[in-house]
Amino acid sequence: MTGNQLAAMTHQLLVEEYGLPNWRPHLSPVGELISTILSQNTNDQNRDQAFAQLREVFPTWEEVRDAPVTKVAESIKIGGLANQKAPAIQNALKTITKERGQIELDFLRSKTSQEASKWLTKLKGVGPKTAAIVLLFSLDMPAFPVDTHVFRVSGRIGIRPAKMNPEKAHKFLAEQFSPDTYYPVHLNLIRLGREICKARQPFCEQCPLNNICDYYKNEYQ
Ligand code: SF4
Repeated sequence: MTGNQLAAMTHQLLVEEYGLPNWRPHLSPVGELISTILSQNTNDQNRDQAFAQLREVFPTWEEVRDAPVTKVAESIKIGGLANQKAPAIQNALKTITKERGQIELDFLRSKTSQEASKWLTKLKGVGPKTAAIVLLFSLDMPAFPVDTHVFRVSGRIGIRPAKMNPEKAHKFLAEQFSPDTYYPVHLNLIRLGREICKARQPFCEQCPLNNICDYYKNEYQ
């Protein structure tokens, strides 16, 4: 089976198991960028609370950009690592302002996915995962975010080489999956990683992918 066939089969089996995920209401591109910075090292609930509190204290992105960094950190402390995230957020907003004259990222729609990713990853602290999330979720552009679950599960199945690093996995996995499946397969792989293919102990006997998975073949057959 080729890599593309294995990726297609993975998508199909996950849809049979979990269905096609609903398109979630998305944030503006700037909002998605800030939300993704807030998501580092915390869970979705704390990220969302930190985002909501940031927006409550500072109703505009200009106010977030220009506030004392300690006040921004105070408003997002529920999300953890506030002393790192607050300067990262302000730095991103300042750089966007400097480059664009205003705080907006909708101009990225006129670029290719690769060009838009390159632009975003020039922002300090923005890596390929954050860029891909902004593109896929808020700009509806073809990008494939590789988070810790997607990285682990794709390695176990054998869709990517075992020793490939997450940076390279973004480009590689984007080539394996069909762009029209990026959104559902990203979300379904995360769900599988959280519920079944857990980091410490995968529950392979319950897994809808065990017929096509390298890890399962090596461990159980
Ligand atoms: S068969 Fe096991 S290792 Fe493979 S994807 Fe499923 S849970 Fe993960």
